[in-house]
Amino acid sequence: MRSTMQDVPLSIGDLVRYGTTVHGDAEVVTWTGGEPRRATYREVGRRAAQLAHALRALGVTGDQRVATFQWNNQEHLEAYLAVPAMGAVLHTLNIRLHPEQVAYVANHAEDHAVIVDASLIPLFAPLLPKLTTVRHVIVAGDPDADPSPLAADGVEVHRYDDLIDGRPEEFDWPAVDERDAAAMCYTSGTTGDPKGVVYSHRSIWLHSMQVCMSDGKGLSQADNALAIVPMFHAMSWGLPYAAMMVGPSLLLTDRFLQPGPIADMIEAERPTIAAAVPTIWQGLVAELEERPRDVSSLNRVVVGGAACPPSLMRAFDERFGVPIVHAWGMTETSPLGSVANPPAGTEGEERWAYRLSQGRLPASVQGRLVADGGTVVPNDGKGVGELQVRGPWITGAYYKDPDPAKFQDGWLRTGDVGTLSPDGFLTLTDRAKDVIKSGGEWISSVELENRVMEHPAVAEAAVIAVPDPKWDERPLVAVVLREGRAADAAELRAHLADRVARWQVPERWAFISEVPKTSVGKFDKKTLRKEHAEGSLK
Ligand code: ADP
Repeated sequence: MRSTMQDVPLSIGDLVRYGTTVHGDAEVVTWTGGEPRRATYREVGRRAAQLAHALRALGVTGDQRVATFQWNNQEHLEAYLAVPAMGAVLHTLNIRLHPEQVAYVANHAEDHAVIVDASLIPLFAPLLPKLTTVRHVIVAGDPDADPSPLAADGVEVHRYDDLIDGRPEEFDWPAVDERDAAAMCYTSGTTGDPKGVVYSHRSIWLHSMQVCMSDGKGLSQADNALAIVPMFHAMSWGLPYAAMMVGPSLLLTDRFLQPGPIADMIEAERPTIAAAVPTIWQGLVAELEERPRDVSSLNRVVVGGAACPPSLMRAFDERFGVPIVHAWGMTETSPLGSVANPPAGTEGEERWAYRLSQGRLPASVQGRLVADGGTVVPNDGKGVGELQVRGPWITGAYYKDPDPAKFQDGWLRTGDVGTLSPDGFLTLTDRAKDVIKSGGEWISSVELENRVMEHPAVAEAAVIAVPDPKWDERPLVAVVLREGRAADAAELRAHLADRVARWQVPERWAFISEVPKTSVGKFDKKTLRKEHAEGSLK
């Protein structure tokens, strides 16, 4: 028997219609370093309609790809709304990828038009001749920026504001098949070429609902949401579309991603929730130690993209009274995979253990652990295996790039290793490729990093495997010391001696001024491995 329910497709067009009217008074604030730029959702909706008309006039039809090469700002949000709502496909280009990779990705996706932030012209111009399918470049932002470096054969250059000026402020967003593509994002290609993940209208809609659920990120109308995580990194973790659903104010960083301006914008604009990778928050802690600001408006901070060091979570609790909410996800999972809201009634160390885990998988994300030989491990909180997931916002393939090794019987292989508890909490020990295999035993690089970072002199620590003639691999710790603090390898080894098994205590230490970071601000272990292939015995 079929249901009697209406079969109404979930579409970004409907989300935009709803958000920009019902939540029309909500604000979008773009940080400028001076007076912030303010607009309402209503105004952003009108400009998104104008942008859609302009894109149609440039020949954008069907599921053509419109790319963005932008910071988190109002115009980027307008593109987020206009492009999928008009039935085309939004492709967020990662401005920090190596130029060869940006060109690969734009050509692979066959981008037709690219919206480029004026401040990024110097970065984008040298790429343009390599982009074989791009016909239009639209420069958004600073009206005084010189667009002349953007000259290329067969490419027309437009100014965003001129292009949308005078066009109708409404657009009859077309009906779409909810399974059609709405947006695409490539993984940052830490190994090999980046791979394209294509989100559907349906997957974005369902994912947005999860972001708003109280055991998701609990985003609501009462929030003022600071999106630090870039809109080119896994769709800013779903915040822009979820915002259309429930109408919080949105605070966007533009290019001001250093700890100083982030502290300033929190003090001035008083966000209630913020989201970013751990390295951003490590930087903020150091900044606030040096020059305190009022961050008391925050009632939670979502940290994901890499394991949140316990020392960071405790620092936020103790110094600022702001709870960090740990979350796990991937570009492939839209990205919300799990969120660590501890069960009611838990206290003390038990509560900490829940908070430090990667969190609970929601009903829409099924997870299983698979051991090396291919057997499924029970979810008993003890058995360790590679996490595989499936669900309505988990990718089932990569765009034009079959990679059967990443999928098994309809499940996505995450490459992350850990345990699942009977009550649905995921605890990751490491990425499979970062685990150190020492004499047949595994050492978790994350565990060692966390323990080293508990030392008061340590600002950052990243652990990699280096080849070892006797043990196959041993850990090497790359340490960044806090300003004005001192510690040597002997002291840090002594610090570790009563925190990890003796055989795990590393012999190799490198004291460096900064841990190299990936294009999305995570520890770049690939580069570290290259730089420290020999390892240094201390
Ligand atoms: P990239 O693979 O280029 O880093 P993603 O942002 O998609 O791009 O990375 C997803 C990966 O990030 C996950 O597979 C996992 O290894 C790691 N990750 C994300 N969140 C967490 C977390 N909370 N704890 C540990 N690792 C995490």
